[in-house]
Amino acid sequence: MNDMSKPDAANPRFISYRVDDGVAWIMLNRPEVSNSQNYRLLNELDEQFRRAVDDDAVKCIVLGGEGKHFSAGHDLGSPEKDKHMERDRKLLWPSHLDRPGAELQYVLEQDAYLGLCRRWQEIPKPTIAMVQGACIAGGLMLAWVCDLIIAADNAFFQDPVVRMGVPGVEYFAHAFELPPRVARELLLLGERMPVERAYQLGMVNRIVPKDELRQEVERIAKDLGSRPAFGVTLTKQAINLVENLRGKHSAMDSQFHMHHLAHAHNQLVSGHLVSGLDAKAMAKANKGEG
Ligand code: ZN
Repeated sequence: MNDMSKPDAANPRFISYRVDDGVAWIMLNRPEVSNSQNYRLLNELDEQFRRAVDDDAVKCIVLGGEGKHFSAGHDLGSPEKDKHMERDRKLLWPSHLDRPGAELQYVLEQDAYLGLCRRWQEIPKPTIAMVQGACIAGGLMLAWVCDLIIAADNAFFQDPVVRMGVPGVEYFAHAFELPPRVARELLLLGERMPVERAYQLGMVNRIVPKDELRQEVERIAKDLGSRPAFGVTLTKQAINLVENLRGKHSAMDSQFHMHHLAHAHNQLVSGHLVSGLDAKAMAKANKGEG
């Protein structure tokens, strides 16, 4: 894309898209800020998923991140972080702008976080998260919606937002991805979980040496893409169904309201959606310095 052209579905700004031999490679492309996510990136991601779904030549979708890290989470501190502005809405929630009180953030996050993640989990083609380095908070949301998580040996996973007075990220899959005791630890202590532990607990499918990650993901993606496509779609639906019968959908709905009680409480007490740490202090705490 040249600098003069406006980003659109064919020329995304924060995402790169490539199809190679039946595999769509959808890459978060903000390595200078560790692929932190603003709403424009998430909308572009949704558009690129749509592009991959619509292309019959695509048999498997890989979601990765350019640079050292998969994703450091929602963008809290970069110059391109979200400001109070209109965004393209992907679901049928109204605009959040000028909504009073707690409604503003609730409407926004129903669409941009919970709604988009749920819809991505239901993509009818197989998806693989290719994770290296940091996979933090909002980064977990993107990895968790994929069917498989293939991780480099330097990957780590963390949800530190309890330190900001919020009970975990908006897509509350923690206690479905991990045993409840470990989910408590992940949230309450907010520490980095090394990839070896995530693998032992079944949250990660494979650990691959960092330099071999793309190659191994490509091999698995092509293998997945060679299976009967409709059978794969139905298998995805079957697993999603089992998770929902175990209460995933309703647990997430309930937790989403706790998440927004926390945002509203923080607003009342401090005037901010999150309490305690600002972006800089959070980054420091994330590195174990705070
Ligand atoms: Zn939130």
